[in-house]
Amino acid sequence: MQKLLILILSLLVLIFVFVVDAENSVQQRGAVQQPSLRWYKGNTHTHTINSDGDSTPDEVVRWYREHGYNFLVLSDHNFLTKVDGLNSVHGAEEKFIVIPGEEVSDKFGDKQIHINGLNVERLVEPQGGKSVVEVIQRNVNEIRSARGVPHINHPNFGWAITADDLKKVENNKLFEIYNGHPLVNNLGGGDKPGLEEIWDAILSSGKLLYGIAVDDAHHFKDPWNRNASRPGQGWISVRAAQLSNSAILEAMEKGDFYASTGVELTDYQVNDKQITISIREVRTSKYRIQFIGNGGRVLKEEITNPAVYQFRGDEGYVRAKIIESNGKFAWTQPVMIRKR
Ligand SMILES: [Zn+2]
Ligand SMILES: [Zn+2]
Repeated sequence: MQKLLILILSLLVLIFVFVVDAENSVQQRGAVQQPSLRWYKGNTHTHTINSDGDSTPDEVVRWYREHGYNFLVLSDHNFLTKVDGLNSVHGAEEKFIVIPGEEVSDKFGDKQIHINGLNVERLVEPQGGKSVVEVIQRNVNEIRSARGVPHINHPNFGWAITADDLKKVENNKLFEIYNGHPLVNNLGGGDKPGLEEIWDAILSSGKLLYGIAVDDAHHFKDPWNRNASRPGQGWISVRAAQLSNSAILEAMEKGDFYASTGVELTDYQVNDKQITISIREVRTSKYRIQFIGNGGRVLKEEITNPAVYQFRGDEGYVRAKIIESNGKFAWTQPVMIRKR
């Protein structure tokens, strides 16, 4: 009789635990009722025969469409290519869009200053100015007034733009930390810092800029030429609610994307306690994840997947760099840490 009572009691406890658990999981599901977000792969810097590229807009768009990209910005020097026809041929809902754009190509003295205008509604002419910073700022402002999103290109091309210049520019959120053109000095050299060092100097000053990777592709027809600037070198993967010009650009300006030269992530999460990075591993590759903070210091190196970094509160900022064993990289966007 006592045994039966214990059995009935245990069964009641089990049923109770099951019900509470089920309710909890329903509540948890209810708590994350955001629009479902997806990752979209794209390149925001590409040339065609409308400036100094070697291929027509149709051929260029076709290359990206056939190589797994979801969006492409055509950015010819001081030329705005119309994209309606391209979208009617190559566009497909939630699969692929062409976003209009232009590489506003200006200079100060012998320094080439190039700024992309993404989704500008009209051609933006180079604005000139009395210093490097003024040239950048005037072009950024003009891109904004054409309802476009600016990004500052290849700072080390001709060693034109320094970290101090970039710190002073307002109304701009994005700059290239990797550009696939073979003559843009991504890594720096001699007394000149590389683009990641430039990024860390800017972030350490407290200014938030997001880093993008781009192709700056010009050459689609000369694959064996080592000096060619080819497609497929650098891209971004953007997390957005849908594949549209505005959703992609809004997510980019919020820093909800990562930049890559070949590493893919399956997920990237930040909350007030930690960053979690999940890599889509290639079976034969190995990975290291560096979490980087103030002054470019490596705060922690991880080899696990997913990799987790828990905030301490004194890092200034934290960004992650994923290093793949064949020299491919991904960079996540910095999280600014406010002292608690
Ligand atoms: Zn350029
Ligand atoms: Zn370019």
